[in-house]
Amino acid sequence: MNIHEYQAKAVLARYGVPVPRGHAAFSPEEAVAKAKELGGPVWVVKAQIHAGGRGKAGGVKVVKSVDDVKSEAARLLGSTLVTHQTGPDGKQVNRLYIEEGSSIARELYLSIVVDRVTSRVSFIVSTEGGMDIEEVAKKTPEKILSFSIDPASGISGFHGRKVAYALGLEGDQVKQGVALIDKLYKAFVGEDMSMLEINPLVVTGEGNLICLDAKVNFDSNALYRHKDIVELRDLTEEDPAEVEASKYDLNSIKLDGQIGCMVNGAGLAMATMDIIKLYGSEPANFLDVGGGATKEKVTAAFKIILSDKNVEGILVNIFGGIMRCDIIAEGVVAAAKEVSLGVPLVVRLEGTNVDLGKKIMAESGLPIISADNLADAAEKIVKAVKEAA
Ligand code: GDP
Ligand code: MN
Repeated sequence: MNIHEYQAKAVLARYGVPVPRGHAAFSPEEAVAKAKELGGPVWVVKAQIHAGGRGKAGGVKVVKSVDDVKSEAARLLGSTLVTHQTGPDGKQVNRLYIEEGSSIARELYLSIVVDRVTSRVSFIVSTEGGMDIEEVAKKTPEKILSFSIDPASGISGFHGRKVAYALGLEGDQVKQGVALIDKLYKAFVGEDMSMLEINPLVVTGEGNLICLDAKVNFDSNALYRHKDIVELRDLTEEDPAEVEASKYDLNSIKLDGQIGCMVNGAGLAMATMDIIKLYGSEPANFLDVGGGATKEKVTAAFKIILSDKNVEGILVNIFGGIMRCDIIAEGVVAAAKEVSLGVPLVVRLEGTNVDLGKKIMAESGLPIISADNLADAAEKIVKAVKEAA
């Protein structure tokens, strides 16, 4: 789960991480009130969307008067920001963050991620902070340093000094750097983050370290123990189909193809997507209805798949292990009747009570195409979609 920059900074501040003072604002009037509260003389008006690259897209403006705060706020609110991370459709700006301006001497980069290869928490740091870390990684990878933390011994001053050295910190900044690393690590572990990116981490004109931007991603599987974090979720930033799916405990990810997939188990879902590609088409989504697929879940999954305008056919591929195939067939038939299916539907069932399941579908009066195995199912749905087009 992602949160906004201003929320991420508030979470980090709880751990004593230095961030500029600021307030969220939802209207130009509120932006003005917050700017006056901060006092100036320099303010930064920042669009709050769940994507980076805002600076280059005009979503971050440093201004020197309250009037400019107001006009920038009016310009940004309601506008659509297209950055290199939003995709071509961009994201609508509904919230702003009004921050006190900072003088910048150096822009550095620091991020913390869970490294799946080493199964450890890793730091990535670079002297080349600012807006183009992707370019740095491509052109001058030697300017990026990374190291991981042994979970048994945890973080120590040694790691902090390593970072301070890599970032070229001097004098009191070394002490600040060591303390910062410790706090960021504690925030990362304490809040079950999966990614924390500070870009830029700046050395101010006064020689202090401060986090000017913050991007945080939380491990969804650990959210149950962070009720306060869950409350920060902004559903308007998420794909509507994925939001709907999460209500029913369905794992759904939207993709760009034409074949809607409804599958149980992540492995089977991956295999189904692969075989659709093998037969010359593309999956429209990844959707895992899970082991305990009820009729309600199957119906919800159908509606979610059909709400995607790109879907030209549906492939249901379910293995009835714990779930019985007849229950799944009843769910598919009920759902198909309820949503008035306008596209070809291929169903491949296997497992417990499979014959009864097939019988229920055959006698339903619906134009369900039955398939015997994975390859047969993929071939049939790709063919049916071509013929319907
Ligand atoms: P991003 O483009 O979405 O990553 O947004 P950032 O929050 O990183 O802001 C982009 C850039 O705006 C930063 O790299 C800074 O160069 C600049 N910026 C942000 N806040 C301030 C500030 O308080 N003072 C100054 N001078 N520049 C700032
Ligand atoms: Mn940034």
